[in-house]
Amino acid sequence: MTEPRPIAFFDMKAQQALIRAEIDAGIARILDHGRFIQGPEVDALEAKLAGFCGAGHAVGVSSGTDAIQIALMAEGIGPGDAVFLPAFTYTATAEVPLVLGATPVFVDVDPATFNLDLADLERRVALVLQEGRLRPRAVIGVDLYGLPADWPAIRALCDRHGMFALDDAAQAFGGALHGKRLGAWAHATACSFYPTKTLGCYGDGGAIITDDPARAELYRSLRTHGEGKSRYEVLRTGMNGRLDSIQAAILLAKLPLLEGELKSRTQAAAWYEAALGGRVTTPQGFAGAESAWGIYTILLPDAEARARVQAAMQAAGVPSAIYYPKPLHRQPAYAEAHARGIGAPPLNGPPPLPVSEALCERCLSLPMHPYLTEADVARVADAVLAKL
Ligand SMILES: *Cc1c(COP(=O)(O)O)cnc(C)c1O
Repeated sequence: MTEPRPIAFFDMKAQQALIRAEIDAGIARILDHGRFIQGPEVDALEAKLAGFCGAGHAVGVSSGTDAIQIALMAEGIGPGDAVFLPAFTYTATAEVPLVLGATPVFVDVDPATFNLDLADLERRVALVLQEGRLRPRAVIGVDLYGLPADWPAIRALCDRHGMFALDDAAQAFGGALHGKRLGAWAHATACSFYPTKTLGCYGDGGAIITDDPARAELYRSLRTHGEGKSRYEVLRTGMNGRLDSIQAAILLAKLPLLEGELKSRTQAAAWYEAALGGRVTTPQGFAGAESAWGIYTILLPDAEARARVQAAMQAAGVPSAIYYPKPLHRQPAYAEAHARGIGAPPLNGPPPLPVSEALCERCLSLPMHPYLTEADVARVADAVLAKL
C-alpha cells in the first residue's frame, strides 16, 4: 500500500506552483528598478485592494499589527481611553491598545459566531461610562476564523457613543456581509498578509482599508514617520510602517487567484459540514455573512474529548491546531490591564467572560486551504470521528 498524500494545515506550496513564474518575474523587475520600499508595486497593489473590497482607499503597511496601530494612532487613542475588543482572539488585537497606553476592555463572544457579543459589549460600555475613569473611544471587532462580525450592529453602537469602529479582518480578507466585502463596513479595516492568511505574502505585510479620504491621508503620513508633503517635514509622531515592493509584487500575483480560492475554501467547509455536522459542533455563521474560511474550527464537548481527538488525529498523520488555548484576559501580559479596565469598587472586578473561557477548552482547528480535495477532507473527518 502506498502512503496517503500528506495533508497540510495551510498549503502555500500548491498555490506557489501556479504563479511561480510571475513571482520570479516580479522580483526580478524590482531588483532592476531598485525601489525596494513603497515602490510602484505598492501603488498598484493599493488600487487593486481598494477595488477588490469596493472601498475608497487602501494603504499598504508593514503588517496587520501595524495596521491596527496606525489606525488607533490616527484617532489619537492613548492613556485614559478604553478600547473594547474580544477576549477570544489573537494577541495582536489587544497588544496595540496597551502599547499606545490605552486600556483594553475585554468583551465576551457569541457562542455561535465566536465574534463580539453585542449585548456584552453594550453592558461593558455602560460600565465604563458609569465608572467615569476611562473614556470609551474605540471598538475593535475581529472577524474570527474569517467570519464577518455583525458590523451594522457594531457601527450603530459606535455611532451612538461617538466611538471609532476598527475591523480587525486579519483572518477574513475576502469575506463579505450582505453582498459587500469587508473593507468599508467599519471606519477602518486592518488586513494582514502574513503568509498563512487568506491573502498572504512571503514575509510580513498588511493594509488599512477605509472609505474616508482624510483617514487614508493620515495613515499614509503615519506609516512614514508622520511625514508631510515633503520627506523632511515631520507633522506628527509616526512610525516605520511601510510595505516593501517585493511583498506587494507577490500579493499582485496572488490577488487574481483569490476569488477562486475563496470558492474552494467554501467548498471544503461544505465537505466538512457534510462529514462532521451533527457529530461535533461545526461553524454556522449567520444570514448574510460569507466567511472567508481563514481557519476551520470545530467544538468538542470538553477539554478531555479535545485532547483525545487531537491525539487520534496526530496518530493518523493529520495536523490540527488550537486557536486559542487561553482567553486574553488570562494571559500574564493582559491580566493586570484587565483588572484595572473596569471593576473599581463598587463593582469588585470586571464581569466574567464565560463563553471565551469555554471556547478555549473546546475549540479545535482542522486543515483549511483552497487546495484540499474531497478525499483529504474525508480523511480528516475520519480521524476526528475515530476516538470521539
Ligand atoms: C494575524 C492576526 C493579526 C496580526 O497580523 P500580523 O500581520 O501578523 O501582524 C491581528 N489580528 C488577528 C485576529 C490575526 O489573526
